[in-house]
Amino acid sequence: MTSIETEGADWIRSAALRAGFDRVGFARIGAWPELGRYRSWVENGYAGEMTYIGRRLEEREDLTQVLEGARSVIALAIRYDTGAATSSAPRAAASGWVSRYAWSRDYHALIDARLADLVGVLRARYPEARFKHYVDTGPIPERAVAARAGLGWVGKNSCLIDTELGSYLFLAEILTSLELPAATLETDHCGSCRACLDACPTDAFAEPGVVDANRCISYLTIEKRGEIPGPLREGIGDHVFGCDLCQEVCPWNQRENRPLAPSDEFAPQPHWRAPSLAALLEQPEPDLRTALKQTPIARAKTRGLRRNTLIAAGNSADPSLLQSVERYRNDPDPVLADAAEWAWRRLRSD
Ligand code: SF4
Repeated sequence: MTSIETEGADWIRSAALRAGFDRVGFARIGAWPELGRYRSWVENGYAGEMTYIGRRLEEREDLTQVLEGARSVIALAIRYDTGAATSSAPRAAASGWVSRYAWSRDYHALIDARLADLVGVLRARYPEARFKHYVDTGPIPERAVAARAGLGWVGKNSCLIDTELGSYLFLAEILTSLELPAATLETDHCGSCRACLDACPTDAFAEPGVVDANRCISYLTIEKRGEIPGPLREGIGDHVFGCDLCQEVCPWNQRENRPLAPSDEFAPQPHWRAPSLAALLEQPEPDLRTALKQTPIARAKTRGLRRNTLIAAGNSADPSLLQSVERYRNDPDPVLADAAEWAWRRLRSD
């Protein structure tokens, strides 16, 4: 184990910023009380069908099981807010809405390349130390780690919030055997605000900071396979992939002078921000599959995206979509046929 003093910590911080990260902080691995919340979250059934979370709880609670001999985590963040419009801004009729993080190409490869570069630099300086990096894919309690590393606080909307950058942040981590200085924790600045809790159309917050995925539009439109429960369909509104409502209403994301992400890195693709519902329903399967390649939307697969689009069409009150919806009523896929039937009846009654 190598203990890193202030000079080494400053050097690592500078190396991370040079590698293209906007925020960097250090957390000492330990038995943080907040780690127990993942277990109770899963045990309460709030993870929905994301059974992979429950399978690796021991590792989430004890990061030394992820990297033997790990002492610290280097927590990193990259902003992706390019300042483009929110879902409440005027736009074309019969369009859907896609979560902000998915407007541009898939971020995993870009961040993974930066992590690999940074780890290479760290290994050169600390050859005896061990490192293991993650972006989004490992058994890492990302927001808890970032908060422990002083990058922000976990707000009532369950997102990590930076006082300057807001919450539109990609998080990444490097576990290491280096013993890095612990950070000062950020104060919770939510105060008496509850804008995010009140904005959720499907009442997904079991309590402040605790999302019941079974009711969350992001989960329903991205992670959930199969049918979306009937009582939640209306609340989904025009969301065809993900949802940012609890972030859009957060005052920390509305500050006029907040630093925005470089537009070349996360340049929004207009056709993905507010896609035409008719086009998503009409596009031939091979074309849609190709269009989704290397976008985060690929996670929902064409089937999930079409299911979500049918629900959004049903919520649109736009009779011009009836024909596009109707052709799915006899789809051999029962999930699509069910969503189409629901949408068709709703449009007809409108
Ligand atoms: Fe906290 Fe208000 Fe932001 Fe919710 S909307 S995370 S309560 S500051």
